[in-house]
Formats: sequence, structure tokens, C-alpha cells
Amino acid sequence: MDTYIAANLLAVQARIAAAARAGGRDAADISLVAVSKTKSISDVRAALAAGQMLFGENRVQEAETKFPTLRVEFPGLKLHLIGGLQTNKARDAVRLADVIETLDRPKLADAIASAVQKEGRSPTLLVEVNTGDEPQKSGVSRAEADAFVGSCMTRFGAALVGLMCVPPHDADPAAHFMWLAACARRHGLGVLSMGMSADFEIAIRCGATHVRVGSAIFGARG
Ligand SMILES: *Cc1c(COP(=O)(O)O)cnc(C)c1O
Repeated sequence: MDTYIAANLLAVQARIAAAARAGGRDAADISLVAVSKTKSISDVRAALAAGQMLFGENRVQEAETKFPTLRVEFPGLKLHLIGGLQTNKARDAVRLADVIETLDRPKLADAIASAVQKEGRSPTLLVEVNTGDEPQKSGVSRAEADAFVGSCMTRFGAALVGLMCVPPHDADPAAHFMWLAACARRHGLGVLSMGMSADFEIAIRCGATHVRVGSAIFGARG
């Protein structure tokens, strides 16, 4: 399993480098977030042993069972929370995460702001946009995105650095990635978290600075 994960990491890094080159971009400007949701702590350790230091998890509770221990062993480890966040989990999220990618509504902004006060710790934040306006998905709607991003920039200042999206399964992802990139540009935000195993090369062509890749590294989820 360890060599499988190490080999997959190398292959994904090579694909990132090739996509960057093809788009006239510097691969150093693209960060790989290894999405370890549902995977064991030993799988995460295998990725760490191969030099991967940046991870993504969907659920606060699951992240809590894996990452505090690993942080002691690997002080350079960084954790992104990438799943829809309930307000009652905001305090745990603020305590655990280096980056919360899924700020998507005023109530959650309130909960995060209050948690930052209480914890004395201020994770980096991205606003998630539901670019497909899918009812079952988290993310602020397209129509409300500009106003919400503006209010979060005012409230959180330099902690708010960019945008994230998960396009609909059946859609052309490039149209969604380009919409997100244009929205970030309007607000002068530099970070774009977009692209997963199936479409990260397209996302890089559209300007992604962070790609979130799970199954291409750790294998299919059960
Ligand atoms: C699971 C997940 C990923 C990774 O998906 P893969 O298809 O396994 O690469 C990326 N982003 C989010 C928000 C996810 O939930």
C-alpha cells in the first residue's frame, strides 16, 4: 500500500507539472491537497513518508481522529477542511484546520468569527461557491456570491484568500472553473481551489492554485 500511494503521488505530481507546462504556468504555483477522507491513518502516513504535507478532509470528526496525532510527528503538516461545515462544528474546525475552504453563509461566518475569538487561532478561509446552484450541495449561490465574498473580505480581512467550488458531476467543469476564476479576479483574490481526480488538469488550465485529489492518490473509496 505504501509504495502504491507513493507511486500514485509521483504520477499525480507529474500530471500537475505537465498541465502547468501546457498552460504556460509554473508548477510551483499549484498546490496538491491530498484528500484522505475515509482513508486510514496509515494511508496518510504513507503519503507523509513520500513527502506529501498538505491534506484535505471533509468531516471535522474524522479529521480529529487522524490529524492531531500526525501533527506531532510532522510539524509541517497542513490540513484543509473541504466539506460542508455545520455551524455547531465551527469551533472544532477553527481549532483543527489550517484552511477552511467551505465558508458559504452568513451564519457560518458568524460561528467562525466567534470561534476565532474563543480559540485565539485564525485559519485561512476560502468561500465555497455552488457554481451549479445544486440544492443538495453546500456553497453560496452564484447570484449571492459577490455580495457574500465582499462581506467576508470586510469581516475577515487577510484571512480570506480565495474561492473553492465542486462543479456538478454531469457538467463541463471548465465553464464552472472559469466562472470561479472570474469571480476571484473581480475581488482581487489569489487562491482558487478547484479540480479533483477526474478534472484537475482542466482546473489547472483555468487557473487553479490548489487541486484536491483523493482517489487518484489513495485509490477508490469503498
Ligand atoms: C472527495 C472530495 C475531493 C476528492 O475527490 P476525488 O475524486 O477522490 O479526487 C475533492 N474535493 C472535495 C470537496 C471532496 O469532497
